[in-house]
Amino acid sequence: MCGAVRYDISEAPIASALCHCDRCRPQSGSAFSTVIIIERSTIALQGATAVFEDIGASGRRVVRRYCPQCGSPLTTEPDVTPELMMVKAGGIDANEWFRPVMELFVGRRRPWVTPVRGAQQFEGNPPI
Ligand SMILES: [Zn+2]
Repeated sequence: MCGAVRYDISEAPIASALCHCDRCRPQSGSAFSTVIIIERSTIALQGATAVFEDIGASGRRVVRRYCPQCGSPLTTEPDVTPELMMVKAGGIDANEWFRPVMELFVGRRRPWVTPVRGAQQFEGNPPI
């Protein structure tokens, strides 16, 4: 949000998703988070970031990276997927193309949120 952190992602995302999990909800300050799933090797981050070390549904560590200047959430980096990570779609400069193709932790979706038509529905993390 403040511009202190910039990043480039060199390849198209593997997937775009909404996550309704109990961690994304408070971290996003909303009912769900909007994320893209990418290969970790395709992102180049510039600027100082801070991390909160969370524990995921797997019981293993999940690094949640954010901007220490403005607090905007940037990435989610689960230990269970050393090659893959998530980037919060709201922080991408031009994200009009974003359309969720999957929804995660749908059992925790708030009742007023309608499923996205055509999006794959998963009770937990996707099998990728
Ligand atoms: Zn989540």
